[in-house]
Amino acid sequence: MQYDHDRRPGLTWLGRRTLTGKHPAVVRINGLGKTRHIRTEQRLAVLYAVSSILLEAADLKEAAARMLQALGDGLAWEYGALWLLDDKTESLYSHTTWHTSSIHASDFEFTTRQARFLPDSLSLPGRVWSSGVPVWVRDITKERNFYRQPKARREGLHGAFAFPIQGSTGVLGIIELFSYEIRQPDKELLQSVITLGKQIGQFIERRRGEEERVQLLAGEVVAHANQLEAIIEAIADGVFIFDREANLVQANGAGREILGFEWNPEFMELPADERLRQLVMRDEDRLLLSQEQWPVMRILHGETLKGANAPDIIFQTLDGHDLHVNVTGAPVRDSQEQIIGGVMVVRDVTKRRELEVRTHESLHALLAMAEELVQLPAEGEEGAAAREIESDPLIAIKKVAHHLAALTCGVLGCRRVGITIVEPETEIVRAVAVVGLTSEQERQWWEEQRAQESSLKDNPTPELVAALRADEALILDMTQPPFKDQPNNCGIRVILSVPMMLAGRLAGIMTLDYGSLDHEYTQEEIALAKTVAKLAALVIERERLLRDRAEARANEMALRKSHRRMDEFLGMASHELRTPLTTIKGNVQLSKRQLKGILDRGKSSDELSGKIEAVQEMLERTDSQVNFMNRLVGDLLDASRISANMLKLSFQPELCNLPEIVRETVQSQHRIFLKRTVRLHVPSGESVPIMADAERIGQVVTNYLTNALKYSAADRPVDVTIQVEGKVAKLSVRDEGPGLSIQEQERIWEYFYQSPGIEVQSGSSVGLGLGLHICRTIIELHHGQVGVKSAPGEGSTFWFTLPLADEV
Ligand code: ADP
Repeated sequence: MQYDHDRRPGLTWLGRRTLTGKHPAVVRINGLGKTRHIRTEQRLAVLYAVSSILLEAADLKEAAARMLQALGDGLAWEYGALWLLDDKTESLYSHTTWHTSSIHASDFEFTTRQARFLPDSLSLPGRVWSSGVPVWVRDITKERNFYRQPKARREGLHGAFAFPIQGSTGVLGIIELFSYEIRQPDKELLQSVITLGKQIGQFIERRRGEEERVQLLAGEVVAHANQLEAIIEAIADGVFIFDREANLVQANGAGREILGFEWNPEFMELPADERLRQLVMRDEDRLLLSQEQWPVMRILHGETLKGANAPDIIFQTLDGHDLHVNVTGAPVRDSQEQIIGGVMVVRDVTKRRELEVRTHESLHALLAMAEELVQLPAEGEEGAAAREIESDPLIAIKKVAHHLAALTCGVLGCRRVGITIVEPETEIVRAVAVVGLTSEQERQWWEEQRAQESSLKDNPTPELVAALRADEALILDMTQPPFKDQPNNCGIRVILSVPMMLAGRLAGIMTLDYGSLDHEYTQEEIALAKTVAKLAALVIERERLLRDRAEARANEMALRKSHRRMDEFLGMASHELRTPLTTIKGNVQLSKRQLKGILDRGKSSDELSGKIEAVQEMLERTDSQVNFMNRLVGDLLDASRISANMLKLSFQPELCNLPEIVRETVQSQHRIFLKRTVRLHVPSGESVPIMADAERIGQVVTNYLTNALKYSAADRPVDVTIQVEGKVAKLSVRDEGPGLSIQEQERIWEYFYQSPGIEVQSGSSVGLGLGLHICRTIIELHHGQVGVKSAPGEGSTFWFTLPLADEV
């Protein structure tokens, strides 16, 4: 205890015990005799002390104990009590009592604590309550009907004094004080305590208000927390909350599912370290993550995982399968900024990654197929092919088809892939490959297919055939009619059937399925399947050409000469096709490296989007290269068909309007050659009806137009004119390019002929010297004529005529 002396006369601070170090809590007046007169300033000091207590006390309990002590010690009363009004029972109960250390007052105290007083004259508090004013009793032993009188007497208590605690709505409580001595009423004190009573009243009301608010707030917080929990629970991503030691505090439903909780409910009980180790976390290259690399640890070390900084990891779920997830998260800090735990959001990206990988694989597979297309068999192999033909004419095609089916299976991740081809002349559908079946199932499949072998024309579901011919993919539920009754020993549910189109002809059908799984085919998957099918058609067609040639060679050696051209043709094809393929490969590899670089280094989002744009641009170029390649391949196939006298119009010619075909072609070319001027001259208001295969005529116009554009300077215009002359329609494309001599004008229509002096002047499109040859064939099939009017240095006008259709 500390002593210090106040200079003020007659008042000495005996002890200054401070709870907070700011205000004197206990004052005691020293040197006062039995008949003391409390001086004004002493009283003020006590009242000031009580006010201070009211200011700093946390709650009424603390305030009451200290107030009673301050009043008792400071004003020399030996016993004190605070009574509060209980609204429910409408009585006073003792809230806090106090007495000096010199008395025991145990009996009196006990009675006081037990008592409940009503607003009547039977108790001092009761009297104050009923009157609402302070009451002074000189000697309570002289009072009649005073409930605690016997106990007070035994304790030697005489003087007593009590005052009301006034709240805004009335008396809230009473403070009473007792002394050993008989005390004369102190009017000044009686006056002061009225104010003090009001102060205490305010304090109590304020604290009660706060308490109510706190309770209300607590209620709100709980409601909020419940709401938050419900929201977290409903989030589709896994949400994990963990503490400073990486112990899992909470995981939502999705989180529990991601981990595979139901497989190991005890997982939560394991020590954090062991728990995390069980998940066997790996990076994208499947390298095991070190402890510091675990997302939880990174978060607990203060890292925020988001954007490019959010890692993709692979971990093993509790039921033992690998899951590819993207992890975001942040540490949770207390008010002192100390990390007390963390929150982690885990998104299952397995599907996305699978798709990415699949897209990647599919690109590779497409490349592999394209390469297959341009690879020529060695002489020896062809000999072998010729021998095999004798046993099964489809053997080579079957080999290639099997390879393609396996590739497709890998690309699409499906269970089974089957390929059937449609014979060009007879339209007989023949199965050539199936993968994904057991050997017994496969044997049955071949049997079934052989039994069903028939022409497309006789197919019992002509509407489905029509859809396939129109290049539509079909999703067929095998458990529904008309397939329900078909043999289905593999329990296949839903089949995806994609047409294998070749220059507008249905050359085959590729079917795939996921066995008995209820698989939903996405648009992406269907598009991919169609691309694969298209390439497969090309590869098979090449195989057919080789077979035809081998057949011809075996039967008629005289055909050797004409087929040498086929060799030349394929040689050139492979050369031309390799150029775009090399670019495709390079671009794809570069994009792969770029993407990996981004993921490895965790770039800022700006940089990331820049890179992604670059990658997209590259893929865009890849796409146009693939288109270009497709066109070349198309030309090659057309040319080979022409040489085999097999070029056919895909549909029955129908009534079309020539200007419409031309306008469409010009527009689509204009989208490629944006800066070029192409002027279209069409007879006004009239339609120019022709009976034609619109697609093929469009092909001819495209060829004329691209030649005019590529063999003339970029700043020279090109004119496209349609005229009607008597019973024929005439289309001409005029350019201001180099022009052709009479001799050249003759030769350019030949197979593979390219005029030696003519160079591509704009655009980078390389050709094979096949376009004009194909154009002439197409126009002649339409009973029209082709020609060119040109002179060196004066540009060229390529034209064709077609008989006008009789107006209907
Ligand atoms: P390519 O794919 O080589 O253009 P084409 O059969 O379309 O094949 O043309 C054959 C050749 O005719 C070209 O290589 C070129 O030498 C010549 N040629 C075609 N169109 C024009 C034109 N508008 N002006 C000059 N020469 C042309």
